[in-house]
Amino acid sequence: MLNSRYVAMTSHESVIRKIFMYGKERAKVVGYDNVFDYSLGNPSVAVPDCFNEAIHEILNTQDDVTVHGYSPSLGISETRVAIARSLNQRYGMSYEEKHIFMTVSAAGAVAHALRAVLEEPGDEIITFAPYFSEYKPYVEGAGGRLVVTPADIDTFQIHFEAFEALLSPQVKAVLINTPNNPSGVVYSAQTLDRLAKILMRKSQEYGHTIYIISDEPYRELVFGGVEAPYVAAHYPNTFTCYSFSKSMSIPGERIGYIAVHPECEDADIAVQVFGQISRGIGHNCPPSLMQLAVARCADATSDLSVYEENKNILYRELTALGFACVEPGGTFYMFPRSLEPDDVAFCEKAKKYDLLLVPGTGFGCPGHFRIAYCVPTEKVIRSLEAFRQLAVEYAVSQ
Ligand code: PLP
Repeated sequence: MLNSRYVAMTSHESVIRKIFMYGKERAKVVGYDNVFDYSLGNPSVAVPDCFNEAIHEILNTQDDVTVHGYSPSLGISETRVAIARSLNQRYGMSYEEKHIFMTVSAAGAVAHALRAVLEEPGDEIITFAPYFSEYKPYVEGAGGRLVVTPADIDTFQIHFEAFEALLSPQVKAVLINTPNNPSGVVYSAQTLDRLAKILMRKSQEYGHTIYIISDEPYRELVFGGVEAPYVAAHYPNTFTCYSFSKSMSIPGERIGYIAVHPECEDADIAVQVFGQISRGIGHNCPPSLMQLAVARCADATSDLSVYEENKNILYRELTALGFACVEPGGTFYMFPRSLEPDDVAFCEKAKKYDLLLVPGTGFGCPGHFRIAYCVPTEKVIRSLEAFRQLAVEYAVSQ
C-alpha cells in the first residue's frame, strides 16, 4: 500500500496548475491571444547572453566528466567561491566557500534548511500571509507544522502583534519571502530590524536559536526607487535560500544555493549538515553544467524591465477601476482585493472575460487575488478591457 498522506495529497490538485490547464483548453476554443492567463509565475523574458555563452564555452573547453559527471556533494568549489564573492561584494557580507551549499533551486534550498532546524514531532515553522502556497507541503514534508501569521492587508509588511502571539517555544524557524510572492511587497529595513529584535529576545527566552529561513528567488526583481534590504545583514542566524530561476529566467535548469551567515550558530558545520540531509532525501549533486555556468555569471540577471512596465500599467489602471491594491515593490506579482469577499467566486466570474486569476485563499489571504504579470506587455494592455468589464459587472450588481 502506498503512503496514505501522499495518496491523500493527490486529490488536492494545485489551484494554479488547474487554472493554467483550463487556460490551455480555453485557448484551443478562442485562440491563445484571447486568453489573459495571469496564473503561472513562469518568467517571460530572455535569459542573459552571458549564461548561454558560458554554457557554450564550458561545452567547448571542458572534459565530459567535469561537465556531465557528479559534482562534489556540497557543490563545485569554483561555484561556491564565486557565489560567496558575489554576495560579499553586493551586500558587504563575509561569506567563504564553506558557507555556500549548492541546491536544486529555491525549492531544494528550503527543503534542506527546514530539515536542518526541525528536530522533534510538533516543531513549528512560522510564516506570514500571504505566503507561497507550496510552503505547506515543504514544511509538512520535512516533518514540521506550518503556522501562519495573518496578513496586515493594508501594507503586507509583518503583522507583528499577531506574530508575537504565535511565536511559541515550538517554533524553530521563521520562513520569510521578500520580495514576496504573491503580494510583490518588499520588506523594509525597519520591518527586518523589528523581526530580528523579537527573534533575538525570544531565542534567549526559550533557550534555543530561532532561525530565519529567507526564501529569496525574487531578490533582484525590484522596481526603481525601492530599497530591497539583504535579509541576512539584519539577523545572523539566517539561511539565505536562493535560486537563479527568476532572476535569469531559468526555472527549468533547477539551480540555486543556501548561504549560511558566517556568524550563524554552527556556521562552520551547517553546510556539512546540509550534505548529510541530501543523502536522506536523494536531492544531491545539482547539475554540474549549471553549477559551472552560474559560477561564470553569478551577478548577471535577465533584462527585467518589462515586469516593472507591466506593474505600472496594471497598478495604474486597476486602481483607477476601483481595485484596492498595495503597490508591489518587486517580483512579477500583484495581489489586489477581490470585488467580493469570496475570492474563489470572484476568480470564477473573471473567467467569463477570459481573465485567469488565482484566488488569494490558496496564499492564506482570502478576499484577494493574484495576478502573475510575467506576460507580454501588449497582452497586459489588451487585458485591461476585460478587467473593465469585470469591474462594471460588479458596479451594476451593487
Ligand atoms: N519560493 C517562492 C516564493 C516561489 O515563488 C517559488 C517559485 O515560484 C519557489 C520558492 C520555488 O522556486 P524554484 O524554481 O527556484 O525552486
